[in-house]
Formats: sequence, C-alpha cells, structure tokens
Amino acid sequence: MRVAIAGGGLAGLACAKYLVDAGHTPIVLERQSVLGGLVAAWKDEDGDWVETGLHAFFGAYPNMLQLLKELGIEDRLQWKKHALIFNQPSKPGVLSRFDVPDIPAPWNVIVSILRNNDMLTWEQKIRFAIGLLPAIVRGQNYVEAMDKYTLLEWLRQQGVDETVNTDIFIAASKALTFINSDEVSATVPLTALNRFLRERYGSKIAFLDGAPPQRLCQPIVDYVTERGGTVRVNAPIKEILLNADGSVQQFVIRGSEGQPHEALTADAYVSAMSVDALKRLLPEAWRQDPFFQKLEGLEGVEVINVQLWFDCKLTEVDHLLFSRSPLLSVYADMSNTCREYANPNQSMLELVLAPAKDWVGRSDQDIIEATLAELAKLFPEQIPEPATVLKAKVVKTPRSVYRASPGRQAYRPSQITSVPNFFLAGSYTYQEYLGSMEGAVLSGKLTAQAIVTALLEANLADSGEFSAKVPTSPSMTNAATA
Ligand SMILES: Cc1cc2nc3c(=O)[nH]c(=O)nc-3n(C[C@H](O)[C@H](O)[C@H](O)COP(=O)(O)OP(=O)(O)OC[C@H]3O[C@@H](n4cnc5c(N)ncnc54)[C@H](O)[C@@H]3O)c2cc1C
Repeated sequence: MRVAIAGGGLAGLACAKYLVDAGHTPIVLERQSVLGGLVAAWKDEDGDWVETGLHAFFGAYPNMLQLLKELGIEDRLQWKKHALIFNQPSKPGVLSRFDVPDIPAPWNVIVSILRNNDMLTWEQKIRFAIGLLPAIVRGQNYVEAMDKYTLLEWLRQQGVDETVNTDIFIAASKALTFINSDEVSATVPLTALNRFLRERYGSKIAFLDGAPPQRLCQPIVDYVTERGGTVRVNAPIKEILLNADGSVQQFVIRGSEGQPHEALTADAYVSAMSVDALKRLLPEAWRQDPFFQKLEGLEGVEVINVQLWFDCKLTEVDHLLFSRSPLLSVYADMSNTCREYANPNQSMLELVLAPAKDWVGRSDQDIIEATLAELAKLFPEQIPEPATVLKAKVVKTPRSVYRASPGRQAYRPSQITSVPNFFLAGSYTYQEYLGSMEGAVLSGKLTAQAIVTALLEANLADSGEFSAKVPTSPSMTNAATA
C-alpha cells in the first residue's frame, strides 16, 4: 500500500520506518531542503553546523532508543554522567549538582535530592516530597487531571515553598516547554517527574554525536529507501484535494520555480506537519468537522536557538546545564558534549532562549548582546573578557512544539482522524511523551500501526474500502510503548 506522508520531521520519518517494516510503501514529502523539522541543521559558510535547537535525549525515551537500536546506531548517543546540573544565580559561575546514584528508582532520584543542599533546605525537601505523593501514588490519571492548573497553581495547592518554584521548576518548565511555570500545565513537569521517579535511568541525559540530519535522519532515510520507500525534500504540500465523500484524493506538491504542481495519489495520507502548518492547509470541507475544529486549541510556541563560537575554552563541563537565567533556558558546551563538534581549545556554546515571545521579533544582534549579558553572569571570569566571540548564529522558530498551557491535553488529536484515509503524526498529537523527540517518534509509530490496522480491517471486511475506527479515548498509546 502506498502512503503519502507530508512532513519529514522525526514523526514523518518514524512513520515511514514503521510502514516499511509492515511491508508498505511510504513516500515522505518534506517542504524544506533539509530533513528533520525542529531537529534540522545545515552547514554555514565555514562548514560549521547550525542547528534549529539544542537537543538532549533521556533514558526515559523508550521508543527513540528502540528506533536507534533497530537502525543499528544506538552507539551514536553519548551518555553523560547521571546528574542534573544547575547554575546558581546568587553565586555567579558556581554550579549545583543533583548527582543520581546507580541504585533502583525512585531511591536514586530521592537520594540525589536529599544530598543537594545548595538549592533546597530540608524543610523544602520534605514539603516537596509530600506534595509529590499524590502523583506517585495515583499515577498518570492524577497527572492528566492536573492539566487544569498551571504548575505554579499546583505547587501552591500542595503547599510547596515558592522558592522551590524559582529554584527548580521555572528551569524545568522552560527546558521542557519553553514557557514559564506560571504558564505551563502542571501535567507536563509532573509527567516528566513521574518517569524520572519510576525508571532507574529515566533522567539520564545523552547527546547525539553529531548533527541530527546526518546522524539521526539519514539512517532512517537509508532504511526506508532500501526497503522501497521514498523520501523527497523540496516537496511542499500546497493543497489536500478531496473526493466528493470528503476523503483525500491527492496531495498537491508545489512545483519549484515555474514548474507545474504535481498531484500525488496514494492509498492513505498522513500529515506529519506541525499543527500550525496543518491548520493552514485544512480543506474547507473539513473545517466544520469537530475533530479538526479541535486543532484550533493548539499552536506552536516561540523559541530561539543561539550558537556562540569562542576563541578559548569556557568550561570543561560535559553535560546539559540549566542556566536558571530569566532569558535563557538550558545550554551546553558542544565542544565537550558532542564528538563531531569536539574542540579541546575553543568552546561552542549552544543555548536555548526561552520564553522567546518578546524576542522572536528582535534583531539577531539584540539577541546576541542580551545572551552575552546573561553569559557574563554564568562565566564571570571569562565574559566579557578575556573570551572573544568568533562567530554567532541565531535560529528563531516562531512556531515550534505546541504551547503546553493548561487544558491543551483535551485538544491534542488522536493519530486516527474522522477521515478514513487521512492520519496524523507529530509530537503535538496525543501520546504520553508530550512535545519531544520521543513524542514525535512514538506518534509516527502509532500512526503506522493505525494505518496497518485499518488496512487489515478493510481486508477483513473485504470491501476494498479504507476504514478506520476513531477511538473514543487515546488509550491505544500504550500499545506502542516499548
Ligand atoms: C530549540 C528546540 C529545542 C528542543 N529540545 C529538545 C530536547 O532537548 N529534547 C527533545 O526531546 N525535544 C526537544 N525539542 C522538541 C523536538 O525537536 C520536537 O518535539 C520534535 O522534533 C518534533 O518533531 P515532529 O516531526 O513532530 O515535528 P516537526 O519537527 O515540526 O516536523 C514537521 C515537518 O513538516 C514539514 N512541513 C511543514 N509544512 C509542510 C508542507 N506544507 N509540506 C511538506 N512538509 C511540511 C516541516 O518542514 C517539518 O520538517 C526541541 C525543539 C526545539 C525547537
């Protein structure tokens, strides 16, 4: 069966991978000249990689880890010491570590919290632990029910000290969702915390050993094309053409520079585009459909990635760092963390600027100056002097992962839509890993499974007609979890 997939991010590529595994023929159509979507990267005039975003992998990413294993490239993840490391705003240049010992969960995380005395007092630790009890005891159902509160509201309800919010949760919210804890749904950090407390290596962090399009996307492309699939770049979907019954008839691909548009016919169609891109392309006939109307409740959040090349070494830390700066979120010295970017003499910092709402409209120069002013607090002995910036790159993404404010869970669509031959993939679709690389891979896998199931049902019914049941709940999510 031919399946046309619009979007060559991780969701679209994972969907194609699992479709070829099931004996089908996917055709991935990516708008840009490079694959990867939010993990895309390209080389600049000097041959250095410029990335859309600093990406960290977690031990609690079972579907991503399984995919890497299936592709034979699991050794491309460079695992770091099991720890979370924070800057301390009150002590410029000083780091505070939560070192996680190699003992079973949840004791490993608990011991790491108990041992850290820089950031939390004993009283705060105890209040925080009591506040977390309902999430631990009642599990994911409780966590999902907390989607009506912001994280800050939830912390206040639990009687957790306000400084725990400023010390830890603002940094965690920004790292997970690019928004602050007074804006983020409590479900998001609680979901992450729950996983970290359940899985021994859940909070362990890894970096890819090079640029994602080459080291992660290309092996998926090779796997798919060796098995009969196709992956095309510079192939933007311009229109979704419908049959009289409202099902998809064709994807129309915009022709490049004076070339005619191309109509592509398949047996099933997938949107693996971002939710914002899909909303723009929705056919008129679908706009009143309650399934697609729900998409109005979702939109991508602003984020900015900054890369700075220095003439000297700023740090030897080989890890992700939580800056705890109002302007910045997480950052890493990629000359230490990533094999392909390794440099013993010069640092290349990659930093996520979030929340970025007030910054996406500003000039690159403004952003670089503001970033350096913040870095002067994190590296007071080197910045502004003696370190010199050799080069700076800014990548603005005005619409990235879905904005995870309270109430969004109810708007996240299942991979099966109300249109029998049309499916959705993307980290914004409903799956339990939120807007992450793991969420994207899992969504793609779930979409492939849904297509395969629908085909089987159609064959069983022997009607020759494509049919899919729209689930009333997103319970099928667990089926794909490794
Ligand atoms: C700065 C930043 C840092 C991040 N850090 C992390 C991290 O540390 N860990 C983590 O797990 N996740 C992180 N993420 C999130 C992660 O990158 C995303 O959740 C994931 O990559 C989303 O994949 P996707 O396939 O669902 O969507 P996307 O990557 O958005 O892919 C959608 C694709 O559709 C294409 N498309 C759009 N319109 C069309 C069209 N008309 N025709 C054809 N194609 C089209 C786009 O070009 C794109 O390639 C980060 C994201 C950013 C931006």
